[in-house]
Amino acid sequence: MEGDGHMGEQAGLQGARVAIVGAGPAGLMSAEAAAKAGLAVDVYDAMPSAGRKFLLAGRGGLNLTHAEALDRFLTRLRPQQPALEAMVRGFGPEALRAWAADLGVETFVGSSGRVFPTDMKAAPLLRAWLHRLRAAGVRFHMRHRWVGWDAEGHPAFETPDGVQAVTCDALVLALGGGSWARLGSDGAWVPLLQAAGVAVHPLQPSNCGFDVAGGWTPLFTERYAGQPFKSVAIEFGGVRRKGEFVATASGVEGSLVYAFSADLREAIAREGQATFSLDLLPDRDEAFVQREVAHPRGSRSLSSHLKGRLGLDGIKMSLLHERLSREEIHAPERLAQAIKALPVTLSAPRPIDEAISSAGGVDWAAMDERLMLRARPGVFCAGEMLDWEAPTGGYLLTATMATGRAAGEGAARWLAISRP
Ligand SMILES: Cc1cc2nc3c(=O)[nH]c(=O)nc-3n(C[C@H](O)[C@H](O)[C@H](O)COP(=O)(O)OP(=O)(O)OC[C@H]3O[C@@H](n4cnc5c(N)ncnc54)[C@H](O)[C@@H]3O)c2cc1C
Repeated sequence: MEGDGHMGEQAGLQGARVAIVGAGPAGLMSAEAAAKAGLAVDVYDAMPSAGRKFLLAGRGGLNLTHAEALDRFLTRLRPQQPALEAMVRGFGPEALRAWAADLGVETFVGSSGRVFPTDMKAAPLLRAWLHRLRAAGVRFHMRHRWVGWDAEGHPAFETPDGVQAVTCDALVLALGGGSWARLGSDGAWVPLLQAAGVAVHPLQPSNCGFDVAGGWTPLFTERYAGQPFKSVAIEFGGVRRKGEFVATASGVEGSLVYAFSADLREAIAREGQATFSLDLLPDRDEAFVQREVAHPRGSRSLSSHLKGRLGLDGIKMSLLHERLSREEIHAPERLAQAIKALPVTLSAPRPIDEAISSAGGVDWAAMDERLMLRARPGVFCAGEMLDWEAPTGGYLLTATMATGRAAGEGAARWLAISRP
């Protein structure tokens, strides 16, 4: 472990024991920081093995972090939280890449600035990490579901051998958000913390798909669900971005939609629905599109005219048919306008279980600057279960790990001064 020579460096920590619940990236990073500070560390998780969501994240290429300037990086985190910002400054993209390299996993910066392991995978990184943690004395207890505190205030776990309470000097909760419950993070901790007097904002889908108002026609769904809208632009709330997204059976999902998901979700919550403007030909200006649409087409059908002159076909063409009346389709000016700015109205985010991540979580004011719960001294929280969100692009894992590290170090600092 980096700085192994300093293990146990904090005075007064000899024999102090921290229990960490959640073996996702936040919990593992807490374990690493706590072990490095000289604490005896036990990690508990409800699942049979560690890091299941982390492994899933690696399936499409593990986007560990982002290489853009740190000041810009920090603007992606929301709400803008000074404490979160300080933690990411303390363990940011560069530190994370150095940390991965120290585990034998080199990274590279992709064309979009996203940072990936050279082999794109999560499994080798997780394997090396668990190995190093075990070597540092961290003990793992799987199939241990935290269910709150017993009458004496000890954390209690449902285990294959019944409910067991454990003794520890500090507790770090790194229980994740509420998406992909089958991988372990099911949000069942929310009422447990609320009952303990901790303010928790309801978990909500982030980086999620949406249903379109009124749904697609059965024909569109049958032909295009799962098909991408490639090289399009979305404009919403005064922000315009180019990218790709995918049609689903009931709406839209994918990276370009995720980039707007927080604003769209909030607009739907406020107003019942949200309408973004879709540019089907973002590299062509409106005058060009007007000219090409209006160009005499002779005996050619409208479809072959648009395909020939503008390259519009497939899902893009079908969406125009889906959203415009027959009259509008045959009115060149209106059609050109729709190609450049087609309103798409969304009625609801998809359920949180389908989302990439969660918004909401433990209120920042419920914790001190070490991430210790004010209502429960000695209990720390980290990772996606805190009240923040970020778009995809490596921001999620970076901030997750930064808060995990802060909670592990915070537990050690607190124990160093609070233990007799
Ligand atoms: C499909 C997908 C792809 C993703 N890709 C990326 C990506 O490329 N880059 C990126 O930055 N982010 C990505 N993410 C997001 C990223 O994986 C998460 O933000 C990150 O895993 C959060 O880490 P965490 O440790 O806070 O929570 P989790 O990883 O969810 O871990 C929480 C752990 O707590 C355990 N747990 C929960 N409740 C209990 C309990 N009561 N008792 C005991 N254990 C419990 C769970 O079993 C789990 O192991 C992706 C997410 C998904 C779903």
